[in-house]
Amino acid sequence: MRVSLLGTGDTTGTPTVGCDCDTCTAARERGVERTRFSVHVENERTEESLLIDFSPDFRYQFLRDEVPLPDAAVITHVHFDHLDGLGNVFRVLDSLEVYAADETDPQTGKSVAGTVRDDYHYLDPLTVVPTTPLETVRICGLDVTLVPVDHPPLVCYGLAVEDPVTGAKLSLTGDTSYDVPEESRAVLADADLLLADGIVPASLCEYHPLGGRHEDADGVPRTFGTKHMTREGALGLAAELNAEQTRLVHLAHFYPADEAFEEPLAIDGEQYVL
Ligand SMILES: [Zn+2]
Ligand SMILES: [Zn+2]
Ligand SMILES: [Zn+2]
Repeated sequence: MRVSLLGTGDTTGTPTVGCDCDTCTAARERGVERTRFSVHVENERTEESLLIDFSPDFRYQFLRDEVPLPDAAVITHVHFDHLDGLGNVFRVLDSLEVYAADETDPQTGKSVAGTVRDDYHYLDPLTVVPTTPLETVRICGLDVTLVPVDHPPLVCYGLAVEDPVTGAKLSLTGDTSYDVPEESRAVLADADLLLADGIVPASLCEYHPLGGRHEDADGVPRTFGTKHMTREGALGLAAELNAEQTRLVHLAHFYPADEAFEEPLAIDGEQYVL
């Protein structure tokens, strides 16, 4: 499978509109960017493409990276930066299956699948497929398993994507704190490529009103506030999950400029063949 990182930024992206911080300035100077989150997975055997999350930057990403339009998609959760690009398929795709979790979110009273169906009821090409977490479904010839993660107050899911023929495996954490449930960790383990939410370095937890949590043995917070992993948390999870290769994604412009483009922080347009 060919994995293209279409969007590696957090909800404001890098550069952020109207921002002249050192990191946004450095991004402009280097000609790199981190648009809102989306990952494109192409099954080269079947020539089908699976899109993970609909970035508000959908149109721009597909023009920029020239990847095939998706045959199917997965939505991890209903935050703006992962869902609100879905309207872009209007008059672009004739049909699209969208897979999303079927568990009711106590916060919204709906599942992710239910929210997608209700919010986009006017989009005729869509077929929403309610999907049970921790059960594997075949999409675009790939075995896809949604796994619950921790992104309060909303339900959110990571996923594993495995090629049943080659055994190649991609895992994504989704937006999550370090508190990923054990049964989800088991599904995400031993990937050829892990994409992990590492929104900021742990050093920035002192600036979050809720601080950090899930400290490691050295007292370094692995969760920033309540919703996302720190860089250190994401790398710690990657080590525990025994990932062959790890890229950090969902990155904020709050990374200091001298750390923002260091390995293994991803930028848009990276491609991996697994
Ligand atoms: Zn900035
Ligand atoms: Zn989110
Ligand atoms: Zn997000």
